[in-house]
Amino acid sequence: MRTYSGPFLTQEGFIQAQIHIEGGSEESDIWGDEGTGTIVDFEEGADEGTPSVIIPTFYNAHTHSADSVVKEVPKGTLSEIVGPGGFKHKALSEADEEDLVNSLRRYIQRAIDMGVSDIIDFREGGIDGLHVIKSAFEGFEERLRLRIMTRPSEMKYDEWELNKIMSLSDGIGLSSYRDWDETLINRIAQAANKMGKPLALHCSEDEREPIDEVLSLGVHHLVHMVEGTTDDFLACVLEDVPIVVCPRSNMFFGKHPDIPAMLDAGVKLCLGTDNAMISTSNMFREMELAYRVSRLTGDVDPMEILMMATWNPRKALNLPYCIGPSESGDDSKEQYMILSEAWGDPAYDVVTRKGLDDIMDIVEW
Ligand SMILES: [Zn+2]
Repeated sequence: MRTYSGPFLTQEGFIQAQIHIEGGSEESDIWGDEGTGTIVDFEEGADEGTPSVIIPTFYNAHTHSADSVVKEVPKGTLSEIVGPGGFKHKALSEADEEDLVNSLRRYIQRAIDMGVSDIIDFREGGIDGLHVIKSAFEGFEERLRLRIMTRPSEMKYDEWELNKIMSLSDGIGLSSYRDWDETLINRIAQAANKMGKPLALHCSEDEREPIDEVLSLGVHHLVHMVEGTTDDFLACVLEDVPIVVCPRSNMFFGKHPDIPAMLDAGVKLCLGTDNAMISTSNMFREMELAYRVSRLTGDVDPMEILMMATWNPRKALNLPYCIGPSESGDDSKEQYMILSEAWGDPAYDVVTRKGLDDIMDIVEW
């Protein structure tokens, strides 16, 4: 049995607490052969264990994990790199299945080692793309909850394919509104709504898109909104649509989201790392950049940033999933991460100074 105490992050913020853990590895090998430990006792206010900061594991709310197969340095503009028919899609279509599966497994293993327990992944390539990620995910079901938002293999409405990909994945994740013919995207949205599957979209990443038309599709969440205005953010709040921001990806393309303005508008904000060829699933780096970039346009409480990587997505996105940790989709257990002792304000410390070396243990509760 091991005991840790210190600031413990609840949905309302930090409280002083002490936890006792049984099982799992005593070493820093987080997911050794013995699996993870379990919290068997929780005492609010106590302070006799190893000093630490205890937070929920990271929820990476937006990735394209298959882009991890790309090894070349991406060059060019946003549309040249990630747009339809661009550098990324060419690289993905040229990669063989074995390379794709191996790079995906490496990406997932590294994400777990970085304290990530939940990922919402946008998968391209239709049914074939789904088979690739499902075979890559075998063996990781107990450690990571992977939600796959997939899209048709071509920019067209194929009812058979659409029904098939919806039955095999957690929802539909499309590129952006303006990439699509209006009638087609409306038909896809209707099909998703009819089947009760969430529909998510990239929106206003490098050009402002018409928010009313986008929201009228009945979207579950939007990604980016870098070029969104205050009115656009307020429209998302009115429709209760959360926004996932990916500042490292945006900065790669010379832009950044206005996080303080989104928070002022009351948006439910979550954090994602986006394309795996641009960023790993390292949420410490994503939080740090989100915090620093926020200071370009305003001021932000580091606690807001920490929540964007932990509790906000668990509450705001709340997506059921179909392939892990068990077939029944059991998410009754939550994972927590024990980090080294806080130096001063725990939220500020985790967001600006902590990193992978500070992860001491990952436990279930
Ligand atoms: Zn994306």
